[in-house]
Amino acid sequence: MRKEEKEECQKMFRNFLAARGLKITRERERILRQVMEKEGHFQVEELAIEMRAKKNPVSRATIYRTLELLTEAGILRKIIAEGGARFELGYGKGYHGHLICLSCGRIIEFSLEELSKLEEKVVKKNRFLPKSRNLLIFGYCQTCQRKGR
Ligand SMILES: [Zn+2]
Ligand SMILES: [Zn+2]
Repeated sequence: MRKEEKEECQKMFRNFLAARGLKITRERERILRQVMEKEGHFQVEELAIEMRAKKNPVSRATIYRTLELLTEAGILRKIIAEGGARFELGYGKGYHGHLICLSCGRIIEFSLEELSKLEEKVVKKNRFLPKSRNLLIFGYCQTCQRKGR
């Protein structure tokens, strides 16, 4: 993430918290800073371990709540997978779907540019106001298929 993007995310989060009447705590800011270092998909546990290693321990409950807030603020995207929720930075990233392996937990991303047009049509037809979208396909990756799952 570039420096300007990080600043933009911090601003977005602060505005979001203020609009909700929530406090901008040092813990919440630290969690956001750690999150912005991530690439790909991560779990709450991973973040907790990294923050402990940096001598910035934050409870798992606080991390989870903050990640939920970051998702609502549009900075993160939440993926519900086997073995718990995973998060990824949604800011500045193109819309994509996920193939999730039920055996090894691997996540493969794919572009959804084409589906995007169809979605717009469906949304318009139903006069629906979309807030988030998430396409998940569960199954078995090539490696696991070869191993006979
Ligand atoms: Zn697999
Ligand atoms: Zn992804």
